[in-house]
Amino acid sequence: MSRKKGSIDIIVPAYNESEVLYIFMNEMMKVIEQITDYQFEFLFVNDGSTDDTLEILDNLSKQYPIVSYISLSRNFGKEAAMTAGFDCSTGDAVAIFDADLQDPPNLLINFIKNWEEGYDVVYAKRTKRDGESIIKKATASLFYSLIQKISQTHIPANTGDCRLMSRRVVDSLSKLREGHRFMKGLFAWVGYPSIAVEYRRSPRAAGKTKFNYWKLLNFAIEGITSFTSAPLRIATYVGSLTALFA
Ligand code: UDP
Ligand code: MG
Repeated sequence: MSRKKGSIDIIVPAYNESEVLYIFMNEMMKVIEQITDYQFEFLFVNDGSTDDTLEILDNLSKQYPIVSYISLSRNFGKEAAMTAGFDCSTGDAVAIFDADLQDPPNLLINFIKNWEEGYDVVYAKRTKRDGESIIKKATASLFYSLIQKISQTHIPANTGDCRLMSRRVVDSLSKLREGHRFMKGLFAWVGYPSIAVEYRRSPRAAGKTKFNYWKLLNFAIEGITSFTSAPLRIATYVGSLTALFA
């Protein structure tokens, strides 16, 4: 066997994804088999699923020697699940993919190409959102324009978590131990040479989204309050002015 150029870990957060995990692994393997230069490891993070996600992950780990998983004690949310994955990763590069195949597996080829060219972060940027409601598209666009206006860290628009990062980026991220983790912000905050790869976001292969509007609203507020003190300042100005006029 030829010597590999390095190792790449693929982190997959999974919360109640039993319907899609076998399909996911199948599709991923088709891509992995084309990339012979690297040693791959899948690291699934079971985020307190209540369906049989854990049993399926156990089966997958027996079926594929390159699959391992960790299981969180309850549902902590995707941000915490990804963090647990980073903490357990050892690869020269680490990629993140959702379990539902909304992030097309063949993005990995493009990720690696850009990483080999010297970029530390290669992130997937959506050109089109298939299978998402008009309301979701509109609120997402509002969120990005708001956070870009008021935050000092530039958070790229229409970018999810799907990306590949070099070891030094993952190490830097791991040093940030905040309890409230808005990963999109932290990814941007650590810096390093980064490049976007455009893609068309597919609809879920199976199962349902885990984010309702209430969760998304709170997630957006978390993002805004973690990365700017603007709301606090606005409250101070409004409060002071009210006091003054009174
Ligand atoms: N996820 C998770 N914990 C959660 C919610 C979601 O690990 O509490 C995972 C989920 O299994 C999937 C990814 O995060 O792999 C994205 O979730 P989802 O597809 O529901 O989000 P959407 O694509 O609708 O924004
Ligand atoms: Mg999804």
